[in-house]
Amino acid sequence: MSITISRIVQGLEPSATLAMSAKAKELKSQGKTIYDLSVGELDFVTPQHICEAGTAAMKSGYTKYTIVSGIPELKKAIAEKYKIDYGLEYDPSHVVVSNGAKHSLHNVFLTTLNPDDEVIVPAPYWVSYAELIKLSGAVPVIIPTEESQNFKMTAAQFEQAITPKTKMLLLCNPSNPTGTMYNTNELTEIANIVLKNNLFVVSDEIYDKLVYGNNRFVSFPTLNPELPERTIVVNGVSKTYAMTGWRIGWTFSPEHIAKKMGELQSQETSSPSSISQYAALTALTGPQDCVTEMLAAFTKRRNYVAKRIAEIDGLTCSELSGAIYVFFNIKNYLGKILGGVRIDNSEQFCLELLTQKQVATVMGSAFGCEGYVRASFAVELDILKEAFDRIAEFVAEFVNV
Ligand code: PMP
Ligand code: GLU
Repeated sequence: MSITISRIVQGLEPSATLAMSAKAKELKSQGKTIYDLSVGELDFVTPQHICEAGTAAMKSGYTKYTIVSGIPELKKAIAEKYKIDYGLEYDPSHVVVSNGAKHSLHNVFLTTLNPDDEVIVPAPYWVSYAELIKLSGAVPVIIPTEESQNFKMTAAQFEQAITPKTKMLLLCNPSNPTGTMYNTNELTEIANIVLKNNLFVVSDEIYDKLVYGNNRFVSFPTLNPELPERTIVVNGVSKTYAMTGWRIGWTFSPEHIAKKMGELQSQETSSPSSISQYAALTALTGPQDCVTEMLAAFTKRRNYVAKRIAEIDGLTCSELSGAIYVFFNIKNYLGKILGGVRIDNSEQFCLELLTQKQVATVMGSAFGCEGYVRASFAVELDILKEAFDRIAEFVAEFVNV
């Protein structure tokens, strides 16, 4: 008899973003040209001075375990950066550094949730949220939002979803996958409900530096002096400094939570990579021109993608305020025939788009929102141009039933 799988892992959905990315990579390895807009990963390599800091760390012998929750210099730099950027006063003892923001989220849920606790998650949501919450035994309560409301959960929707079991709200601002951003008024309304109902918030702020036009990022705990005690902020270096492979993320939380998360991490992974931590320290404390330069490139790509979606008959998207994704509406094409086959959902749409036009995207259903497709614009403009030419050709081939 073969080894059986635990109930909890049996019920786990694999990450659709990473699955689509793996599919695209496999096709590339077979020699096919793939226009890969699937995974949310900056195409830039990590800036040179950050890589050099990693090399210097190795050469200096920083190749051993560190304090589990992160080297003190890095925790101090993380706290100082949020103070300078957003005016938040965190002590390094409130910071836990983990193996990427995904690991931070997992630590947060395992440390704070009990079975049957409810966590309110506005949809569309990032693929890993619901699964990570379920791994802790708690229940994600999904609040659907509409393109017509710019995919933002209203205060009324939030309030209606609260039950005696609600413990937490999970907010992603700017949003993966929709690129939407909440403004100060909207966040304040949400914050008031959080305080009135004695709830906690996990605020995923990983795209805080990828914000376009006149939009301004507001860090959730800045809205009310009572919020830092009720909020766990998640962030990291993956997006801001093109450092996805280095695996460094962190949390700001009340001290008693930070202490317990550190203890959890001491049993599950020990410290994050020593080398990556020194590189992250240089990322935060070194010159920030790389961030400005990458944002300038992303601004051009975001404008280009918004224009292309507007030009393609039948496709729409909401305003692209932040992050690196366009979440476009394909409902006009569902139920229609493509090459003799009826396309009924976003998964079929994405698979056909990949097979027939070699453009890799991710189906909206993976983000809890059928009828949409997510495309990352973290690739060069010429790739975006070819990909959107192909998407335009693809949708033109659909015929009515
Ligand atoms: N949160 C969001 C919203 C994300 O898109 C991602 C993907 N990078 C993460 C967290 C996790 O980031 P990482 O583990 O690479 O630090
Ligand atoms: N967060 C990115 C995405 O949404 C990276 C992949 C992942 O971690 O799921 O595509």
